[in-house]
Amino acid sequence: MVVMNLDSLVEVGKANEVYFDPKHPYTEVLIGTNPQPDPQVERSRPSKAIQGEIPAWRLPPPCRIANRCPQVMDVCRQTTPELIPLKDVDRHVACHLYA
Ligand code: SF4
Repeated sequence: MVVMNLDSLVEVGKANEVYFDPKHPYTEVLIGTNPQPDPQVERSRPSKAIQGEIPAWRLPPPCRIANRCPQVMDVCRQTTPELIPLKDVDRHVACHLYA
């Protein structure tokens, strides 16, 4: 599975592993907002909707999700995170949380 945000790869891994154990904040939000067919489950889940606005005409630098990420740090607004392999799991993630 490849997860993208705007023009950037944010997470790459085996589909089941990414879906059930997302590592990137954006992947986590995407999967958390996936509708559940069971209304009891749907009502019991906390809302994980991503906050902020989608950039209208200019890509936000350097991490594309920095303006909307709940875990944003100073480095996220200064340096583009590279897609790096994670230790102990077969996964690549572009996020300064894992640098
Ligand atoms: S690099 Fe920073 S802003 Fe981008 S997803 Fe990771 S923590 Fe959030």
